[in-house]
Amino acid sequence: MKSYKTMTQSLHTHSVFDDGKAAPEEMVRASAAAGLKIFGSSLHSPIPDESWTCRPERVEPFKAEMQRLKAAYAEQLEVYCGVEYDLLSDQAYLQGFDYVIASVHGIVVDGATWSMDDTRERSRRMIVLAFDGDANACAKTYFQRVQTIAEIPEADIVGHFDLLTKFDEPDPLFNADSKRYRNAALTAMEALVRAGKIFELNTGAVSRGYRTEFYPSNQLLRDLCDLGGKLTITSDSHAANTVDFGYGEAEQAAKNAGFREIWQFDGKKFVPTEL
Ligand SMILES: [Zn+2]
Ligand SMILES: [Zn+2]
Repeated sequence: MKSYKTMTQSLHTHSVFDDGKAAPEEMVRASAAAGLKIFGSSLHSPIPDESWTCRPERVEPFKAEMQRLKAAYAEQLEVYCGVEYDLLSDQAYLQGFDYVIASVHGIVVDGATWSMDDTRERSRRMIVLAFDGDANACAKTYFQRVQTIAEIPEADIVGHFDLLTKFDEPDPLFNADSKRYRNAALTAMEALVRAGKIFELNTGAVSRGYRTEFYPSNQLLRDLCDLGGKLTITSDSHAANTVDFGYGEAEQAAKNAGFREIWQFDGKKFVPTEL
């Protein structure tokens, strides 16, 4: 039996068109089998020399495949063609998709790009080499970049708000309780809430074994609720067996943080549904 009752969709997912393991059709079938009403694949927008993103020449074939699946599975569930737009990508990739998740996976410091979610060692080196060991300065740069999503009209959802903490369990690289970290995070959060952006409670790092807490942390989730922010739930699934991973726990975490509604896609826009 399903452990969740509000969520009816999975919109943050990947496939073999980017760094996912399954074909879009396998993801669609798994979503239908899970009882979901809506499935969307959110393609990693192309970035040159980043193999986890979609190659530019594969974007149109991806769209064509999603159109085919939309028609082929219309009687079982609705299928949408989304994008997880990275801020390092060409802005042209904000156009031509049913919905946009905007994410920061890397920051540029003195001309060098540092990945936020590659390996713990790379994150550690970033703090040491690009920020003289000052993790809070790193957090500030990251959250300032995330904050600029407020200025992207096409962006519907803010991807994994505190992705930088991916490797923080059990031994934190960042001090998420410190005043400077919290100031940086809350300044970005306030701007994004003001701009009407939807945050995702993203279960992906838990499903892949990196974390026990979802993005954002329970503390930031409570802050988001206090600020009147909008929330949805996503799995960031890269495989067919995790399209709704942790949705039950995520609904409970949202409730515990004080949320009474969850935002979902109606095919054109996002609307609240009672939690
Ligand atoms: Zn992402
Ligand atoms: Zn993703």
